[in-house]
Amino acid sequence: MADADLVILGGGSGGYACALRASELGMSVILIDKDKLGGTCLHRGCIPTKALLHAAEVADSARESEQFGVNTTLHGIDMVKVNEYRDGVVGRLYKGLQGLVKSRKVQFVEGAGRLVGPKTVEVNGQQYTGTNVVLATGSYARSLPGLEISGRIMTSDQALNLDYIPQRVIVLGGGVIGVEFASVWKSFGSEVTIIEGWPHLVPNEDDAISKQLERAFRKRGINFSVGTRFASAMQDATGVKVTLEDGKTFDADLLLVAVGRGPNASDMGFEEQGIAMERGWVLVNERLHTNIEGVFAVGDITPGLQLAHRGFQHGIFVAEEIAGLRPVVIADVNIPKVTYCEPEVASVGLTEAQARAEHGDNISAYEYNLGGNGKSQILGTTGFIKVVRINDGPVVGIHMVGSRMGEQIGEAQLIVNWEAHPEDVAVLIHAHPTQNEAMGEAHLALAGKPLHAHA
Ligand SMILES: Cc1cc2nc3c(=O)[nH]c(=O)nc-3n(C[C@H](O)[C@H](O)[C@H](O)COP(=O)(O)OP(=O)(O)OC[C@H]3O[C@@H](n4cnc5c(N)ncnc54)[C@H](O)[C@@H]3O)c2cc1C
Repeated sequence: MADADLVILGGGSGGYACALRASELGMSVILIDKDKLGGTCLHRGCIPTKALLHAAEVADSARESEQFGVNTTLHGIDMVKVNEYRDGVVGRLYKGLQGLVKSRKVQFVEGAGRLVGPKTVEVNGQQYTGTNVVLATGSYARSLPGLEISGRIMTSDQALNLDYIPQRVIVLGGGVIGVEFASVWKSFGSEVTIIEGWPHLVPNEDDAISKQLERAFRKRGINFSVGTRFASAMQDATGVKVTLEDGKTFDADLLLVAVGRGPNASDMGFEEQGIAMERGWVLVNERLHTNIEGVFAVGDITPGLQLAHRGFQHGIFVAEEIAGLRPVVIADVNIPKVTYCEPEVASVGLTEAQARAEHGDNISAYEYNLGGNGKSQILGTTGFIKVVRINDGPVVGIHMVGSRMGEQIGEAQLIVNWEAHPEDVAVLIHAHPTQNEAMGEAHLALAGKPLHAHA
């Protein structure tokens, strides 16, 4: 006899979203976490980093206010106070989430869980069996072979807890987490160097976006080395030295290792219970079923994008799947992505190169330059919105770079996921003067009737 309709192992974005939706659908739910409810996103990821990025934006505004005729002086950054502000944000959301879980009558069990039967999790010597089980144990910050995380060599977990600003910092990895930390530290006054082995920063984005971000970072004085791989790092009492494969060296006070995140799925009984896995990831089909009937996996332990909102969507999806509601599958490529550095990068759908690989020359792409957008001029930002369409067909990708462009991702993801044609969007109205107008302008141009743009 099951203890609950649903037992969920891991209370991060994927696990708790599943718990909330399942309880809404009338299921009894046991949610297990060895740490704080909310997981990486709330305590060590999205929220604390975005609070730091906001503080960084405030610092930039203070430093650069003269160009708007406002005279201020930036006296310095008090990291203890910045951390207090950040912890206040996290604390309020954490309290709210705990209240929400309680009010939905989800039973929260604190402790490390282990799968001891296909549908049974053991925690602190007690076993909980579910009619269905969801694995949602998330991910951890990876390092590279031979690169030990200790002292001056750290991952985002330790970097978030620094109570000082390093004078010189090296960021290993020019992906999302790397460029976000680089952006924060530069705004706080550090000398920053990013090392990326791929030929470009944010290498998963459209090439044009990467190049524009590189231009913007160069202008901000953020140093970077791309295209040469890391070889080794040494640290002593005074600093850390990084050597690349071409023999070039870099010195700094600390090294942030931001080379990606691996699945947190080992030593929890998954293999013993016969769950199919590959290189540590839990394998699922497109409806998030593992190979064992009644056992599902969601979020970062499944191969694909590692994003909190993907975790939320997975969690809701599985609850509805179990309830027999046949939810709609959303492919990873159509999940919106935002990188919150300054300037921001936001995208959804296929890059131009991916669209060309899939559809040959039957595509068109248009870049609307933010130079023609009033609000962007007011803010003093540069960048563009690039829209990729199939000729006489729908928009399949939207790629943006510029201050605050993350806020435009909502409309972008609707356009791509609803398979709108540029002509559909061109007749809709975008308020003036907003950065959102740039979205309208790009679609007007692709529909053959540019307004504030050259054809
Ligand atoms: C620095 C940083 C910044 C990020 N910024 C963003 C962002 O801006 N936007 C975005 O969308 N995503 C961001 N992410 C990614 C996002 O945090 C993850 O995609 C998301 O948290 C994944 O959710 P999850 O539920 O799969 O796993 P997690 O949130 O990692 O939750 C897994 C939970 O399982 C628990 N657990 C693990 N093993 C056990 C066990 N044996 N027993 C009991 N409990 C266990 C853990 O304690 C944890 O609470 C960021 C990540 C980092 C590190």
